[in-house]
Amino acid sequence: MNDSSGFLVVEAVSTARPDRCPNCREQARRVHSTYQRTLDEQPLGSRRVIIRLRVRWNFCDRRSCSRTTFVEQVRGLSVRYRRSSTGLAG
Ligand SMILES: [Zn+2]
Repeated sequence: MNDSSGFLVVEAVSTARPDRCPNCREQARRVHSTYQRTLDEQPLGSRRVIIRLRVRWNFCDRRSCSRTTFVEQVRGLSVRYRRSSTGLAG
């Protein structure tokens, strides 16, 4: 956690079990890559809170599935295609 000039930056890594493919529900067994998402959280006092979350990009290995890769969703924190966390939206 860093504290600099009115910002509170929280760095987080997902340690949840591998996610399931949103298309066929097959559990991911291979990780393609990881990338960092930036989420705005609810402010803490006068400070803006930013979460830097490292999420996994997984392979779907089911042959009949039209999807080959998908990004993991961290429940309660991120929703697909959202830039802000669900806490701020709610
Ligand atoms: Zn699939």
